[in-house]
Amino acid sequence: VAEFSLIERYCTNIGVSHSATQIGVGDDAAVIQIPPGKELVISVDTMVEGVHFSSGTSASLIASKLIAVNLSDMAAMGAQPKWVTLALTLPSVDDLWLEQFANTLDSLARAYRVQLIGGDTTQGALTLSMQIMGLVNKGEAITRSNSNSGDDLYVSGPIGDAGLALAALQGQVSLSESALKTLRKRLDTPTPQVALGLQLVGVATACIDISDGLFADLTHLAESSGVTAHLNLDRIPLSKEYNAYLDGGGSLDIALTGGDDYQLGFTAPLTQRPRLIAIADELNISLARIGSVSKLTNSSVQMQYRGKPYSIKFGAGYQHFC
Ligand code: ADP
Ligand code: MG
Repeated sequence: VAEFSLIERYCTNIGVSHSATQIGVGDDAAVIQIPPGKELVISVDTMVEGVHFSSGTSASLIASKLIAVNLSDMAAMGAQPKWVTLALTLPSVDDLWLEQFANTLDSLARAYRVQLIGGDTTQGALTLSMQIMGLVNKGEAITRSNSNSGDDLYVSGPIGDAGLALAALQGQVSLSESALKTLRKRLDTPTPQVALGLQLVGVATACIDISDGLFADLTHLAESSGVTAHLNLDRIPLSKEYNAYLDGGGSLDIALTGGDDYQLGFTAPLTQRPRLIAIADELNISLARIGSVSKLTNSSVQMQYRGKPYSIKFGAGYQHFC
């Protein structure tokens, strides 16, 4: 297929169609109308074969992860996701692959009410780059840098499952077949906390999405805000599978350093406790208050476990070029 018919066949009409979209796929560029009183929130994430997924990963899993990681960035800012663009680099045109990719992308784009409005298609090593755009009320985006000393520290749900699945796949830990099956789903198809992010506007003082490991990402939040985060590891929500691994002599370090959780870490003043309990209840999520932040001391994150200071023994989150 020629490039043009490929685009026409697979890349038009993905997701919902927003009335604010003046021009979508098919022109030299897309045009969107930003509603009065709103600001545009923009992020981009790239997935490279061999780095972010292994060769042979299904097109459907690649599509779902690509959109999920982008949606998670919108969630962390408290933005309503609206539009995406997609840069696709493909080694060859594989119709079955493209159809699966487009189908999954379309169903998730519809579920989260986003519209694909443009992109680029090139030949080369399999690489996917998605840019996402969302809306917030003027001045209301939740940043990483606004925590106040005394705020509570929260995480939106279980941490470490994706990291534990990856460690098992890499032969570093051994898990039962059924545990690995469950954890793999958390690694392959993360659930972005979009609804929570929207509810956190005006409630959270700072927020970050946990994609590079809880410890590394809370370090970023604490450093941006100029505070020290005090993390009580006994309060971190863990899945049944992670707890079983711990009971068998496993370590909390994977939960602290493994990436790909796509939960939100955030701070909020004590006065918001009742509101946050109500939000967790309404969204049916295992939101947990895992500590607090204080005036900056000698380190950005301090951890306590079973009444004693805790430090990580191995790893420190995945970093490119390091
Ligand atoms: P240009 O020559 O201006 O780069 P292209 O031929 O690459 O234009 O793209 C034609 C149209 O198709 C543009 O509107 C572009 O945004 C869209 N498009 C190209 N590739 C994709 C893709 N992978 N997903 C969505 N839209 C795409
Ligand atoms: Mg192009």
